[in-house]
Amino acid sequence: TVEFGRQSVLADVRLSTTAKRVLEKRYLKKDANGRVIETPEDMFRRVARVVASAECKYAPGADTSRIEDEFYQAMSRLEFLPNSPTLLNAGRQVGQLSACFVLPVEDSIESIFDAVKQTALIHKSGGGTGFSFSNLRPAGDKVGELTEVAGGPVSVINIFSAAADYVRQGGVRRGCNAAILDVTHPDILKFISCKGDPNALTNFYISVVVTREFMTKVRSGEDYDIINPHTGEVVQRLNAACVFDCIVDQAWKTGDPGLVFIDRINDDNPTPELGRIRHVSGCGEQTLLPYESCNLGSISLPRMLKRDGERVVVDYEKLGRTVKMAIRFLDNVIDVNRFPTPEIEKATLRNRKIGLGVMGFADMLVLMGIPYNSEEAIFQADQIMEFIKETSHRASSKLAEARGSFPAYEGSIYDVPGGRPMRNATCTSIAPTGTLSIIAGVSSGIEPSFAMVFVRNILDGENLLEINPYFEEMARREGFHSKELFEKLVSSNHLHDMECVPDWLKRLLVTAHRIRPEWHIRIQAAFQKYTDNAVSKTVNFSHEATREDMANVFNLAYDKGLKGITVYRDGSRAAQPLCTSESG
Ligand code: UDP
Repeated sequence: TVEFGRQSVLADVRLSTTAKRVLEKRYLKKDANGRVIETPEDMFRRVARVVASAECKYAPGADTSRIEDEFYQAMSRLEFLPNSPTLLNAGRQVGQLSACFVLPVEDSIESIFDAVKQTALIHKSGGGTGFSFSNLRPAGDKVGELTEVAGGPVSVINIFSAAADYVRQGGVRRGCNAAILDVTHPDILKFISCKGDPNALTNFYISVVVTREFMTKVRSGEDYDIINPHTGEVVQRLNAACVFDCIVDQAWKTGDPGLVFIDRINDDNPTPELGRIRHVSGCGEQTLLPYESCNLGSISLPRMLKRDGERVVVDYEKLGRTVKMAIRFLDNVIDVNRFPTPEIEKATLRNRKIGLGVMGFADMLVLMGIPYNSEEAIFQADQIMEFIKETSHRASSKLAEARGSFPAYEGSIYDVPGGRPMRNATCTSIAPTGTLSIIAGVSSGIEPSFAMVFVRNILDGENLLEINPYFEEMARREGFHSKELFEKLVSSNHLHDMECVPDWLKRLLVTAHRIRPEWHIRIQAAFQKYTDNAVSKTVNFSHEATREDMANVFNLAYDKGLKGITVYRDGSRAAQPLCTSESG
């Protein structure tokens, strides 16, 4: 284990400058003149109070101050944070607390524009949306008796994209959208290339929905049926391997599309009697039925460590306590949530899905002295997520004893002889934690570090220089700290080229592009094994990676049981969400 300062491990928690700026700009209450009128502590208190107030529903007149304090402590120590809409909207007029929504889009003008309206309302309240466009008739199809022809899924996605561009979430950010289309749809090739132009659909992630049957045919080189969803007719046959190559080619060029492994998702569908799952949320971490929404929360893993002699290890006792608190917190959120529409309220209350996950996994590994691309990292991922899943299911079950199981429990996968009650149809999911990780000051989700020194662009073009705290600490301790080195690293993200940095540190602080994609997949798979919903992760490729490399990784993702895969080859898109100054 590498000895980092006590502060890095033990909870001397302070919000970083970036975290404070993000909170001031986006989350803290402001007066009519735009002056910030609450502190971060006030914000955590506001959220804790609202979320704890749900307890009164089950114990009228109960004193909620103890549980409120527990919630407050967990947030203010940055051990656990609920998704952004909860931080932003709890106790405020909007009152919408969830990040993830999916909306059905049926093959009619009415359904399409209903969904556009609902999307606008969801985005306005801070949520992101996922859609399947597979039910839409293809472009060029007849509409009624008229000679008019249908626009097809891609033109409909453009309508949603324009609407989403118009609405900014509570004035703070744009809504994330995911569009998915079955590989059997007649417009599949148009869909695969619909983000080919770098300026097209910048507020959408797109993914192709593939089945096990399709993947088998990719490998055997067979043809498969293309079906018009409107008529149910087989209209064409395409070669599975050729379509797969088109997907890989576009993903290699632009990062889109990804793949959604829909049969794998349905293996984990907790309520098969309510229908097959056909949707994923805005960033892919949530697999939901039509109109369902889900509120998320993430535990900061670097805050779940302790010293054991010379070693830094996971404090499972603390992690267990935090998981129990978090499940109660997230279940409470459902009860105090103000849903954007009645359909969403109804569908969400039926299954009471919540998504507890983690952030700061890469930072945790650094503190433990484990490189991200190592067998030991896979082992840790497996251990931690298994523990979180088990503990969260136990906690949900315990809540169900007091509060009752989720209403659609009967016929669910938990409803078996000797099965336990469950308060929530799903408990776990790994979110991207784009903003939460900034607030908590840790690496995002389960991603490796992106760069040691980089310029972070936080809304409206404000740029802040960030230095990986472990790198900075080591640079001072090992005596290679210099302004020149940091300047060099801002202009080129190549730690491995810096002679002054010792090899063992280069190995420990390995960044996303230096990690072979196979390791990304294996880490994601270790987490997925114990995640009820899905895992949001981008598999990074170096600029030099070939199409064949990418095809191999798509295949590996399928073989390892992932529910979906999103890729990004360095430099293949003009704007990256998080940029080294070199590429951004
Ligand atoms: N999301 C969104 N707009 C954004 C970022 C996120 O609508 O700019 C939604 C999206 O549905 C995503 C979910 O929020 O699936 C969770 O994303 P993340 O964990 O990055 O959000 P955070 O809670 O950190 O803000």
